[in-house]
Amino acid sequence: MTRRLFWDDMYAREFDARVVTVEGNRIVLDQTAFNPRGGGLVSDTGTIGTSRVPEVVKEGEDIFHVVEAPAEFGPGKTVHGVLDWDRRFRIMRMHTSAHILSSVVNRETGALITGNQISPDESRVDFNLENFDRDKMSYYIDRVNEAVQRELEVKTYFMKREEALANPGFVKLANAMPPSLDMLRIVEIGDVDTQADGGVHVRNTREIGKVVGLKTENKGKSNRRLYFTVQ
Ligand SMILES: [Zn+2]
Repeated sequence: MTRRLFWDDMYAREFDARVVTVEGNRIVLDQTAFNPRGGGLVSDTGTIGTSRVPEVVKEGEDIFHVVEAPAEFGPGKTVHGVLDWDRRFRIMRMHTSAHILSSVVNRETGALITGNQISPDESRVDFNLENFDRDKMSYYIDRVNEAVQRELEVKTYFMKREEALANPGFVKLANAMPPSLDMLRIVEIGDVDTQADGGVHVRNTREIGKVVGLKTENKGKSNRRLYFTVQ
């Protein structure tokens, strides 16, 4: 299992690690600050040694770094990784915003998230909703910004799986959680949202800045998509 340094410190931008395996152009390290693609988040990018890392994926508990110069690496070698921090920090701001947005829409309508895509420039969240338009979008985004401006602290901690599952609000995307894990990581955004979540967030909602609704789309009879960004 790759040790996830971003679970201890979501603000770690650089790290040292040891190469465990090299499979073609994919390397596994003993630990990493790169958050892999998953849970609706695009992967981090950056460099390991002098090689670009355009993509990072997870398979089970292992994290595979795609590298452009695999010849540079061999098992046992110590390497230095550096994240593309501007991109990662936008992902963190977008991700925390998406949690607040889903909580606001859930509270106002009872709708649940059916999908999401968190990217640095533009993110989207899908809801199982029948009625949605620009006015409603503006209303929900205003509620999100009210929460953001309250400068809520974002806490992360681990909880026993059974304990987390006993609280239905905690696991809105239960199938996204690997069944092998005994402990689930919980992300708590003030009094607004508490979720089992493996992804990266800001420490305080003040770092989000301003959330801006971009557009809405109908994606089927009762599926509505909302695009947003952060400024
Ligand atoms: Zn999340």
